[in-house]
Formats: sequence, structure tokens, C-alpha cells
Amino acid sequence: MIRIYNTLSKRKEEFIPLEEGKVRMYVCGPTVYNLIHIGNARPMIFFDTVRRYFEYRGYEVNFVSNFTDVDDKIIKKAIEEGVPAEEISQRYIAECKKDMEGMNIRPATTHPLAMQEIDGMLDMISTLVEKGYAYEVNGTVYYRTRRFADYGKLSHKNLDELQGGNRALLVSGEDEKEDPLDFVLWKPKKEGEPYWTSPWSDGRPGWHIECSVMSKKYLGEQIDIHGGGEDLIFPHHENEIAQSEACSGKEFARYWMHNAFLNIDNHKMSKSLGNFFTVREISEKYDLQVLRFFMLSAHYRSPLNFSADLMESSKNALERILTAADNLRFIAEHAVRGTLNEEESAKLEEAGKFVAQFETAMDDDFNTADAIAAVFDLVKYANTNTSESSGSLFASSLLAELQRLCDILGIITERKEELLDEEIENLIAERTAARKAKNFARADEIRAQLLEKGIILEDTREGVKWKRA
Ligand code: AMP
Ligand code: ZN
Repeated sequence: MIRIYNTLSKRKEEFIPLEEGKVRMYVCGPTVYNLIHIGNARPMIFFDTVRRYFEYRGYEVNFVSNFTDVDDKIIKKAIEEGVPAEEISQRYIAECKKDMEGMNIRPATTHPLAMQEIDGMLDMISTLVEKGYAYEVNGTVYYRTRRFADYGKLSHKNLDELQGGNRALLVSGEDEKEDPLDFVLWKPKKEGEPYWTSPWSDGRPGWHIECSVMSKKYLGEQIDIHGGGEDLIFPHHENEIAQSEACSGKEFARYWMHNAFLNIDNHKMSKSLGNFFTVREISEKYDLQVLRFFMLSAHYRSPLNFSADLMESSKNALERILTAADNLRFIAEHAVRGTLNEEESAKLEEAGKFVAQFETAMDDDFNTADAIAAVFDLVKYANTNTSESSGSLFASSLLAELQRLCDILGIITERKEELLDEEIENLIAERTAARKAKNFARADEIRAQLLEKGIILEDTREGVKWKRA
């Protein structure tokens, strides 16, 4: 039985899917106006692990995570660079996907883009207007927050408290709203901004409506899990609930999961303070597996502090797992093949307890920290119970068990193979031949393939030179 801490009830609850054997989950993705930072990587790594664990438990997971590609920050950057907003978002989506691959985050079932879902947004906003949950003033459409009786149920705030906190809004030019708590569903364009036509104005959607619409389109009106960083609880997720539930009349998401923040040197990481690292910067120093391992070494609801020391200890810890896997692989390949002897059978059965320990940890609200402890217990067990005299099957069985657990965490136990000089030379020769034959597609493909392995080519007058990055 999997138990999940639900922000809605503030309790751990047994996970019961809407449809047996299936999980529908939606996780708010990054706003793509820059390279993602390691804070953004935390929900990506964690929810990818949640998905992997559900699949391990036999569920079919429909996992949807958007890229927010309609946003003020993107438009600002586009204006600065003098290019269309779409160019900015496309560029950083491509970069984000590279980072995700480096962190071994599997692509979602669907990665919708807000720009392509405008029709759905117009529909949902129209429904909200028809039902009396939204109103238009001077081309802007607002959500009538007080009309939705459950407003505040996720963030556990009451409206009057919120009203106090939002008093500033009244004097900041937003006094056309009926109530300071009302939020924007649609707003008119400003000069030079991308826009779409609508019954209310030429303009663009607000951020909150994007997720309600994409979740509905790809997962249906009701979903099992909705996730994101804890900064999204209010107002983003509260507003998503207000929109989706007012529209459908049904409960939107059963379980709301939120990861705590990643801090740096015990300070809140923020772009304005300049104390953040991009995933790309980390990848120049470390294999991104180390970052993944580091993120999972703490429980997702605990704040996590990023520091060089902790990255070093994560690197060493990961190295212990990889070394144990190397040893098992070596024995499996070189030892006598055959069946398990009695002692080995007994030991293999005993090693099953580490799998049980791992599952107990993950069943308890995805406690990856304890799950990693179980992996280390297995590593220790394998190290002390195997030797040159172990049988091949014994070693390969332990290795398979270790790999199965690591795979749930998204940790790859094989070392990245390095290309031998000879293999590089052969690929370069093939590329030269492809170019001669004017097969430039193949030539480019080889260059990209080499680059991925850290080999940089330079075309010179004397021929092709190469170096390792
Ligand atoms: P954004 O690009 O700001 O919309 O954020 C994308 C996702 O990253 C959201 O789920 C945020 O909650 C999450 N996030 C942003 N900063 C951090 C951080 N420092 N630690 C953990 N999660 C974060
Ligand atoms: Zn969202």
C-alpha cells in the first residue's frame, strides 16, 4: 500500500487510484526563459522517481508536465533580444530537455505547451463566465474568487486573512476588480506582445488557467496526483482548483504533492540574489547522476541545502554503488557458470530483505532517503558475501537486484563507456566518406554522436583533428 502526504488534508493517505491500475498525474513544469536551475531540477527528479516507482508497482502512469511558454519573463527576454517569444521558449525547451536527459529524467507521456492550447483556454474561460465564476472588465477577464466556496482549501487560508494580505493590490491600479482576491484569466495585449483573439480582447491567458486546461485535455476532468514545488500551493494551485472545479463541478485532483525548496549554503536560492546554479553549470563539474543522487538523498518534503561538500559526499556515495556493481559484473562474467549452491540460494533469499526495506520506504510517502539506505545495505551485503570463489549466477542475481532498485531511483549502475581512440578514428573516417558522398545528414549525425561522448572535432586544412572535452 502506497501512502502519500496530501497537502489538501495535511495527512498521509492511502493511495487509491481513480481507475484501477492507473495513475494520472500532472506536474507543473518550468517557465522556459532561461536555462533551468538546480531548484527547478528538484521537482523534476523527484516526480520522475515517483512515476518510476508507480510503474515498478505495476501501475500504468499517464504523466503530464507542461512547459510554461506564455509568460511575462519570456516576453521580456524576447524584447531584449529582439526575437519572437516563441524563439526564446523553443530554445530553452530544447536546453531543458538536454538537462533532463543528463539527469536521467524520462520524458513525460505528454509535455504540452500553453501556446498550443489557447482554444481550450478560451473554452474554459467562456464556461466560467457563463457559470458566473468570471467577469470581464475593459478586455480583462477575472475569476470571481468569492463565488467559489472552497477557495483556500489547499493552502488552508481563509478569505478574510487573504484579503488583509492583499490590501496592497487595491492601490496598485487593479481597482477595476470586484474584489482584490480576484485573479486574471485573460488579459489584453500590450504593444509588441504576442496575442490571440478572444471574445474579450486581443490578448493572452493568465498563467493559472494554462495548467487547468492542459491537465483536463490530457488527463481528463479528474486526476489522481497534482504536483510541484511548495511555492506553487498559493496562489497557483489554489487557483487551478478554483478554475477546474468551478468548471467541471467535480473534485480536480485527489492528492496534492509538494516538494520543499532547495537552498544554497543555507540561504534561499534566488535569481535576484544571484546565489543559484544552473543544471548546466553543475554538469561541467559533475556527472548529473551525482545531482540526481544528491536530490534523492533527502526526503522531498524536507528543505535541502546545496553545498560543494554535500555534492562531494554524494559523488563518493554514488561511487560506492558503482564499484559494487562493477565487482558483481566482473564476477558474473568471469566466475564459473552453473546453478546456485545451497549457501548462495540462502544468501540470495536473505538479500530479498533489502528489496522489502526499499519498498517499505518508498511506500511511506516516497521516502527516498530511507530507500537509498536500503540500497547501501544491499551494497554492503554484496561486498561482504561475494569473492573470487562466488558463482556467476549468484553475482548476476545480486547485480540484477541492485540494478532494479537503482533503476527506480533513476541511477544508472553502468559507467558511461568512453570511446577508444580507434573507435573515434573509425567514426571520423566514416564521416569523411559520408561528406565526400554528399551525405551531410550522416556526417552531422556522426559529429553529434561524438560530441555526446565528449569528443570535439575540428576541420582543418590538414584534415580532421579531434580532442576530448
Ligand atoms: P518556475 O520555472 O519558477 O515556474 O518553477 C518550476 C518548478 O520548479 C516549480 O514546481 C517550482 O516550485 C520549482 N522550484 C523553483 N525553485 C525551486 C527551488 N529552489 N527548490 C525547489 N523547487 C523549486
Ligand atoms: Zn501549474
